[in-house]
Amino acid sequence: MANIDHYISKIVNDGFPELKNITITAKYKKLKNSFMQVEYESETEYIIQIDTSLEGVNKDIMLGGIAHEIAHVFRNVCSNFLGTIISGVMYRISSKYRTRDERETDLLVVERGFGKQLLAFLKYNDKYYYAYTESDGLTVKELKKILAKNNKKKRN
Ligand SMILES: [Zn+2]
Repeated sequence: MANIDHYISKIVNDGFPELKNITITAKYKKLKNSFMQVEYESETEYIIQIDTSLEGVNKDIMLGGIAHEIAHVFRNVCSNFLGTIISGVMYRISSKYRTRDERETDLLVVERGFGKQLLAFLKYNDKYYYAYTESDGLTVKELKKILAKNNKKKRN
């Protein structure tokens, strides 16, 4: 997992320095419902599970997926204890809540500088898993628009 560990520290250092004291590790696992998911171990420990089919995909795809999971960790760490419990329950019972949570998580990834990599991941997801709709998170189309707008702002 040397590569993956390196990706995790790059994302934390460059995008989420607030998480320097949180231990984030990763492991490959056969997943049923997604390419990646993050598991809460304790307040300071999280494990990113990566579907075995992603072994060997290119760097940007991997960074984009991991950045999304780390953004989930960030949102979790920043909310208080009660907030964490409520959001955990709501995520499971309310599809509307889940949609909002996924979209806000994607926007956070963009804000922290990994939008380009997230786009690579979403494209891969659309091709090999299924095409994300707006209720799953940002779509490829939406993300492209946001990134184009950000680029324009940077130039001005
Ligand atoms: Zn997510």
